[in-house]
Amino acid sequence: MRLAVVGAGINGVMSAWALLDEGHQVDLYEQGEPVNATSRASTKLLHGGLRYLEHGDFGLVREGLRARSWWLKRAPDHAHSIEIAIPVYRGGGRSRWTLKAGLVLYDLLAGRSRLCRHRWLDPEKLSRRVRGLKPGHLRGAYVFCDGQMDDHALGMWALNQVQAKGVRLYSNVAVQTIAFNGTLVTDKRSEQYDGIVNAAGPWSVALLERSHIPSPHQLDLVRGSHLLVPRRHDIGLLLESPDDGRVCFVLPYGDLTLIGTTEVRQSLAEPIICAASERAYLIRLYNWYFQTALVDDASIQTFAGVRPLIASEESDASAVTRECAIEVQGKVATIFGGKWTTSRDTGKRIASVARGWIK
Ligand SMILES: Cc1cc2nc3c(=O)[nH]c(=O)nc-3n(C[C@H](O)[C@H](O)[C@H](O)COP(=O)(O)OP(=O)(O)OC[C@H]3O[C@@H](n4cnc5c(N)ncnc54)[C@H](O)[C@@H]3O)c2cc1C
Repeated sequence: MRLAVVGAGINGVMSAWALLDEGHQVDLYEQGEPVNATSRASTKLLHGGLRYLEHGDFGLVREGLRARSWWLKRAPDHAHSIEIAIPVYRGGGRSRWTLKAGLVLYDLLAGRSRLCRHRWLDPEKLSRRVRGLKPGHLRGAYVFCDGQMDDHALGMWALNQVQAKGVRLYSNVAVQTIAFNGTLVTDKRSEQYDGIVNAAGPWSVALLERSHIPSPHQLDLVRGSHLLVPRRHDIGLLLESPDDGRVCFVLPYGDLTLIGTTEVRQSLAEPIICAASERAYLIRLYNWYFQTALVDDASIQTFAGVRPLIASEESDASAVTRECAIEVQGKVATIFGGKWTTSRDTGKRIASVARGWIK
């Protein structure tokens, strides 16, 4: 079949990959540059998401842990294992035993794809691994392993694979409308396809609305901002914000340290940039834990992206599910939500939808 994919973020690229594997011809449309929106503004983790265990998302965590090892094996130049420490404080937020239970479950769900067994570091060992943590009421830390990627480089690696398999990429071509019968309209032309995949990420509902296709889900657009500062630590850290108890990461990233992320609801009309309040929130978080304070100066770079989460009644953005839904309306399949790590599974689900389009 002749199929179109709208959006060359990681979900569009991995959908194209799975469709090509089933022998289809695929055109990939991108309104800007490929892998340049949400998919290059992530926390750069290939993970199951330890914190999603708190919300009972066991299936999502297991899927992420399995997917993580596929990326690590297939693209070792752009993805690797990373150690992450979770400091535990006397009288602190999550107790040592809550964390222990979560890490045991995380290791179990990983099964054979586990990267290392979690372990406990006493304060002395911890001070050798993490320099400059304020001692306070520190009891020690758990250390576990997850995957880390260069999201842009890894996404471009996947795009190169699909281009080598024959996908045609149309960059800087915005799709104006799509239709139930497979008609796709851009500024310049109208094309007829046997099926269309709407992988426009945060813009997917806007595309449906413009096309007068009722959207089965609304999106909860939640901005996440990060700071990049000259490298400070050789191990990752998962820390609770002193402001609201949310968890944030401090991760080594090349010769930089990445600090993030925030969760701020926004609309598509607003610019996707780190606000001054988010910058201050992340600096405050870092300085709460470390002796050598971060000074808010020009050495701090920032980047931001918008999570296209499936809207729910949930008022707390961190509790909104990271599950992915695929809705099929005639010859149009739309991807809602999801995670970078599990984009290959999303692509496979799209390929099975396409089987239903074969006449
Ligand atoms: C702050 C933050 C941190 C995150 N951290 C992680 C993490 O550590 N690990 C993880 O697994 N996941 C993480 N995620 C989630 C992950 O980044 C996203 O789920 C994933 O990148 C979404 O990919 P996508 O392809 O759906 O969207 P996008 O990457 O946004 O791609 C959609 C593409 O569609 C294009 N497009 C839109 N409309 C049109 C149109 N009309 N015509 C043509 N093209 C169009 C856009 O230009 C864009 O390139 C994070 C997300 C955020 C925001």
